[in-house]
Order: sequence, then C-alpha cells, then structure tokens
Amino acid sequence: MSTTPSGSSHSLASYAMDPANSRGRRVFEPPAPTRNAYQRDRDRIIHSTAFRRLVYKTQVFLNHEGDLFRTRLTHSLEVAQLGRSIARSLQLHEDLVEAIALAHDLGHTPFGHAGQEALNACMRALAPVGSDDRNSGFEHNLQSLRVVDALEERYPDFDGLNLCFETREGILKHCSRARAERLEAVEPGGVAARFLYGGSPSLEAQLCNLADEIAYNAHDIDDGVRSGLLSLEQLQAVPLFERYCHRALQLHPKLQGRRLLFESIRLMLSDQVYDVIDATRKRLLDAGVHSAADVRQLPPLVGFSEAMRADSRHLKAFLFRHLYRHPKVLDTTARARQVVTELFDCYKEQAHELPAAYAQRPRRARAIADYIAGMTDRYAIREHQRLSGKVMFE
Ligand code: MG
Repeated sequence: MSTTPSGSSHSLASYAMDPANSRGRRVFEPPAPTRNAYQRDRDRIIHSTAFRRLVYKTQVFLNHEGDLFRTRLTHSLEVAQLGRSIARSLQLHEDLVEAIALAHDLGHTPFGHAGQEALNACMRALAPVGSDDRNSGFEHNLQSLRVVDALEERYPDFDGLNLCFETREGILKHCSRARAERLEAVEPGGVAARFLYGGSPSLEAQLCNLADEIAYNAHDIDDGVRSGLLSLEQLQAVPLFERYCHRALQLHPKLQGRRLLFESIRLMLSDQVYDVIDATRKRLLDAGVHSAADVRQLPPLVGFSEAMRADSRHLKAFLFRHLYRHPKVLDTTARARQVVTELFDCYKEQAHELPAAYAQRPRRARAIADYIAGMTDRYAIREHQRLSGKVMFE
C-alpha cells in the first residue's frame, strides 16, 4: 500500500495531526526508517507489559466470571476499531487514534472502577500525612500516563515508552486542577497545561474519548444480557435501543433472541458512527477550522449531534441504574474493594512482601499503588488469598 508523506495510508485533512509536526518525545530519538512516529508509539504500546495485562483485567464483569465477557483488552481493541473507522472518514490520523485507543486504559487497576476507588481511598487515608501521594490519591487516567512515562521498563536509555507528546496528551483525557498543577511543575507547558490554561487536545484525542463511550455503551448491553442481569424486554424501554430493535425487526421480522440483540446493537453502532462523522464535519465547517492549531483554540469539536447525545445519555443512565448498580455487580465490587484495601494494608505493614524493586522505592505508598494497579484480577485474588488466608472469590 502506498503512503502519503505523513505516513498515513489515506489523505489527511488540514486539521489532522501530522507526525512530521509532532512536538516530539521527552528523550530525543532519531526517526524510525519505515514507520511514522505514531505507528512507532502504537507498536511500543502493543509490546508493553501493561498491554498484555489488559487481557486479565475487568471491564464490568470479573475476568473469571465468564470467558466471553469484554476485558480491558478487547474493550481497547473495540475502541481502536471504532476510532480508526471514524478517523478515516474524517481524514484524521488513524495511527495516532489507534495508539491513544490502545493505551487509554493501561492504568486501570484490577476489578475496574471498584479497584480504582479502593486504591484512591487507601492513598488518601494511608499515605503519609501532607505527602504528595496523599493529596493526589490514585486516578486511572493519570496512572495510564505513569505507565507510559515511567513504569514500563523496556528500553536502555529511559523509563517508560518515551511516546510522542500527542499520544501522551490523548492518554491524559481528564485531570483535576490539583493534579494538573503537579504535572505542570515537572513538565511546564506539557500534557497537563490545557487543564490549567484551557484549550482542547487534538481531534484524534477527542475522537478516542467518544469512541470509548460508544464502545462501552454497546458492549455493556451485550455483556449485560449475556450475564442475565439485563433482558431484551428491559432494553426495549430505552428509546435509543428500541429504535434499532424496531428497525431490525422491520428488516428481519422473524429475528429473535441473541441475533435480534446483536443486530440491534450493530445498527445502533453504525448509526452512532455516522452521526459522529456528520455532526463533527458540520462543527468543523461552522467553526472555520483549517489547521491542527485552530483545533486547540476551540471547544471540543468531535461529538454526537444533540439528539444522539441526549439518547446516549439516556442509555448511559439506564446502564448505570440497571447494570453497574445491579445487586450482583455491587456484591462483586464490594468484595473487590476489600481485596484491594487489604492488599494495600498488608504491603504497608509488611514491606518485605513487596517485590524488592517496589520495597526499595522511597515513596512507599506510591510504590504499593503502582504494584497493585499493575495486577491482573486473578493475580490480585491469589495474592490476597496468600496474604490474608481469605477466599474472596471462588
Ligand atoms: Mg475505556
């Protein structure tokens, strides 16, 4: 396949990011002979240890609850697929979108959001009083950045993966003011600056955010029904889903059960993708955007139309109420929280239980958080059982 000078296999819009104009890496490296800078970032992410761990980390359902539920790995692949597909239509840089999408969840703890909440609470309660670790707690976006900036140990000359500014910026999709101030102190004008002084990230980064939301809304419906916690009848009360279910039945009147569910989700996904492409194109045109620099001065431009945004919010609220807050899910998350909290306590009291490289680090609380955050679900369960003697999950 022939490529354009930017290394992209399709032509790029004037407002797409161009690796030739990248703000570069924290440690200088000469360009790779056959790959553009964003492809190189993607490849480094795929070869990282943190990426392989995603296969055993919870999305909503714990890894051991079934083999067919989404994990953080399959979720990240779905985000990359949706992101690339939309990027191609909008003539944005697919490789950058893919790199950000594959890295966006690298900092997730075991047990999904329950793990993150527990780890944050532990840092806030158990890190030394007045320390930076106590104040900043634990947050998975920031941890994803820590993984690619500091925690991966693969290269002789630097810690982390030494990714391009644009990939790192996309990974840090949210950041509190207090955390941004800390990052800004270490890297002035860097990836946290926009959380202090305003401005938007690249369109590619904005797109990954939305692709994440589109992906999990769709796959959580699928996993929710597969688990038996949601029913097709319940979903038909959600206007967005009902619309596509109705359309699926118009097209295939005999469709039922799992195939009706899949077809409804498929139609919904396609329509959401087309909606994002149309609404974003219109906003780019209305705002008179001509360059990647223009994008940074404006509010976020990648998004749904207003009607689709409202429908998507409704679906999210439904999933929150009926799936993420389902008593069975809550029971699992309560146990997961206990595992993480007790692991943290144990390592704090008995540092010799930590691997030497972590035990030797000066900031003990942060070292423990990094160690636990890197665990897979099953490793955390096994390690907790070894240290506490308790069996929390059969
Ligand atoms: Mg995600």
